[in-house]
Amino acid sequence: MLKVEPIPAFQDNYIWAIHDGHCAAVVDPGEAAPVEAFLAHAGLALGAIVITHHHGDHQGGVAELLAAHPTAPDGAPLPVIGPAGERIGGRTVAVREGDTVDVAHPALRLKVLDVPGHTAGHVAYVAELAGAGPSVFCGDTLFASGCGRLFEGSPAQMLASLDKLAALPGATRVYCAHEYTRSNVRFARAVEPDNPALAAWEARVDALRAAGTPTVPTTVAQEREVNPFLRSREPAVRKAVAAHEGGPAANDAAAFGALRGWKDNFR
Ligand code: ZN
Ligand code: FE
Repeated sequence: MLKVEPIPAFQDNYIWAIHDGHCAAVVDPGEAAPVEAFLAHAGLALGAIVITHHHGDHQGGVAELLAAHPTAPDGAPLPVIGPAGERIGGRTVAVREGDTVDVAHPALRLKVLDVPGHTAGHVAYVAELAGAGPSVFCGDTLFASGCGRLFEGSPAQMLASLDKLAALPGATRVYCAHEYTRSNVRFARAVEPDNPALAAWEARVDALRAAGTPTVPTTVAQEREVNPFLRSREPAVRKAVAAHEGGPAANDAAAFGALRGWKDNFR
């Protein structure tokens, strides 16, 4: 049986630990200290490092973790799994769309999706986790009620990447890398003030955050209902974007780009 737990890092990052009670794989360790504290507190060995993209807040802790944990519990060099298209320090396994990676400690299988847009080589990992269900670790591509900024990709690329994630089974848990939900929901409400699922979700988010509880993981089904970036073809979203832009968008990618630009400047 596997468990997935958040390790809070920096201001609002989540490093995800997937563990079986003995060893853990950690996803996007931007810093080492909170990971070490988590492992020590839970009595876990480090079995693998998994990276979604090259940004420092996702891979900044790798060197320090590798120095402290050069080998996995079986004595093999600690696997560091990361996107083939990006520079990931210490990477031992370069992955791209269609690859399947078997992690030994803990035992789990990761399927790789290319999800460019936030960065050019960004990948997501899909896993059927025994005891924890279908899951996707999507870094800074899809957030709860939002999506990553387009630093290295085009709106068309990001739209295609989000379409890929939205097509996963609805029950898939979405393990994103930041707690951005509150500000994302505020923007989503501005786009879709009449979406009842979104109104209910906003109340829940406020209650969770007031209690200091993470709002993630959410699910793919939930994101399809409340996330404007998965809903950019919905008539209500298109209407809101057209009203904001002063005219209708030429196509789906342009509408998505306008929506992302609106969010970039939203206060
Ligand atoms: Zn990033
Ligand atoms: Fe990030």
